[in-house]
Amino acid sequence: MKRCVFCKSSENITKEHIFPIWYRNLNKIELKTLHHLSFEHPTQRILSSKNISEMKMKLKSERRYPINSLVNGYVCKKCNNIFINKIDGNAKDIVSKLLNGNFEKGDFTEENCKALSKWAYKTVLTLCNPNTINFKKLIPDSAYEDFFVTKEVPDDVIISLGKLEKEAKNTEVLWSISQNFLFEFSPHSSYAKDIVKESTFILNQKKSNLSVTMSFLKKCNKDSFHVILNINGFLLRVVYIPRTDLFSLRYDNGEIIVHPKLTSKMEDLIEYENMMKFMLNLHLVYKGIER
Ligand SMILES: [Zn+2]
Repeated sequence: MKRCVFCKSSENITKEHIFPIWYRNLNKIELKTLHHLSFEHPTQRILSSKNISEMKMKLKSERRYPINSLVNGYVCKKCNNIFINKIDGNAKDIVSKLLNGNFEKGDFTEENCKALSKWAYKTVLTLCNPNTINFKKLIPDSAYEDFFVTKEVPDDVIISLGKLEKEAKNTEVLWSISQNFLFEFSPHSSYAKDIVKESTFILNQKKSNLSVTMSFLKKCNKDSFHVILNINGFLLRVVYIPRTDLFSLRYDNGEIIVHPKLTSKMEDLIEYENMMKFMLNLHLVYKGIER
């Protein structure tokens, strides 16, 4: 029996459009269809910082997802009309400004950041779901139920905002979904002395002969997700790291953090050449156990 991913009801299960109609109408990205992306590197699964800069994104799936018909078929009518509709409605003003490119300093109100965060999280939950796209299940059922009950984005989900350079603005893909992170090791961590490379990128592949250290890190990171939504050139990053006691996040260049708390300013918004560069701007720092 089909049950709603949010409230678990089996009544009136409908198809929920991932991107509301006003979003679809304002979207200017040339590529109206979507492919999954992964990183291209011929042999290595763990990359040194030198190789990271040479990495390219490549298509993982040729399957197309026209955004007009992109739906999650497991949302009940009530959640669709009330819960989701309210999130979309509250975020319409701020997201439309991003889509239209007339987003300004004064738009960073606490209220707007909250609305934007909820919309981003809702979009990620409905999009990154096997009912919507052909991608392995990343987000547990409990996250949907929690969101429905609390109506709040969890504090351990971090949402930030960046921007693409003008040339790449409307031609990059609409989203990127992965569990890939650039790892970095705090000099105080128990593993620091064992790691030769200063930063490491773990590719999320099934078969891999990782060292004990890297296997441990990968295991810690197994339920994580790293999603980037491209809103006509504004990049909305939604990240979840399960073990926040072991990891902290570090940004190479400016990004505006909008959740759990607005901690950055408009001046922190830096333009990136492509989505890949933006993705690698975030470093997952392993804090580990103090020696
Ligand atoms: Zn429901």
